Amino acid sequence: MGQTLADLPLRDELRGEEPYGAPQLDVPVLLNVNENPYPPSDAVVADIAESVAEAARGLNRYPDREALGLRSDLAAYLGHDLTPAHVWAANGSNEVMLQILQAFGGPGRLALSFAPTYSMYPEYARDSCTTWLTGRRAEDFTLDPGHVVEQIRTHQPAVVLLASPNNPTGTALSLDLIETVCGVAPGIVVVDEAYAEFRRDGTPSALTLLPAYPRLIVTRTMSKAFALAGGRLGYLATDPAIVDALRIVRLPYHLSAVTQAVARAALRHTGELLARVAELRERRDETVEWLRGLGLTVADTDANFVLFGTFDDRHALWQGLLDKGVLIRETGPDGWLRVSIGSAEEMAAFRTALREVLGR
Ligand code: PMP
Repeated sequence: MGQTLADLPLRDELRGEEPYGAPQLDVPVLLNVNENPYPPSDAVVADIAESVAEAARGLNRYPDREALGLRSDLAAYLGHDLTPAHVWAANGSNEVMLQILQAFGGPGRLALSFAPTYSMYPEYARDSCTTWLTGRRAEDFTLDPGHVVEQIRTHQPAVVLLASPNNPTGTALSLDLIETVCGVAPGIVVVDEAYAEFRRDGTPSALTLLPAYPRLIVTRTMSKAFALAGGRLGYLATDPAIVDALRIVRLPYHLSAVTQAVARAALRHTGELLARVAELRERRDETVEWLRGLGLTVADTDANFVLFGTFDDRHALWQGLLDKGVLIRETGPDGWLRVSIGSAEEMAAFRTALREVLGR
């Protein structure tokens, strides 16, 4: 008999844990992990292929450890007078966030966020031996400044983690709120802007606050707007001293030459890739209106997904949609479901399936 997980001398806090897993099912309409529905165009694919071939010729050597070319391209994309020294990149913003907690969290330190929020945060905390604590969001999923300040004053977190727009609710934060947090937080403040490019007009980015707050980190990803989830490239902008701190904990050569080449190729097509973001934002706003028209409650959203509800038995609804070939996500507070914004055809399939399952 082979051994099982239960037989292993696993760290106590990992016992009984399951690997992260949104279901990866073979279903025609995939609207469950906030992916971009549009594969890269032929022009982008050709550029990526050529760039990877070029990188392949040097694969006997380790890659540029500092990824300076890529960081320079990312700084240029972000603007705001940022330089490569202000920018750091890793394999997905998942890894960026883990590195932040490895450098600034750790045993005896606490990371604070406000629930409901991204389900991976507690896992980064666990894996970096950082105590994890959440305050709460208001009924409409916004943050009450009084509650936020009180939580920070009480718990003195080494890291405050705020997603804006937040997953799974879609809620963006005001700059006022972020400035309030930066004013009272004793340590690092992270604003996770994985969905920043999907913001509605008038919703600001925390990038504008970087010059004023040297302990603020703004994280981004190429997984969503750049349609590069499979490429695994996340990044951040912050003060150069914080980048130096992250360079201490990163694994040597953490970002492969292939990854760097793929990301740089995609960045050369920013215009084309972001044109499709505008289309997705419009479809997101239409989806919100359509769901509200059905009489459902829908959270205001600045992201490429919509949280809607509420249902006495959300699992039954989720399963009903799945039976019709539409996979969405059973996540968020009890009674709510989240749908990612797909292509026009995918959203039509979602609407048809939802009407049928609801009997409306
Ligand atoms: N932050 C938030 C809020 C997310 O929703 C996600 C992806 N679902 C990520 C970070 C991670 O993205 P990635 O690792 O693909 O960059």
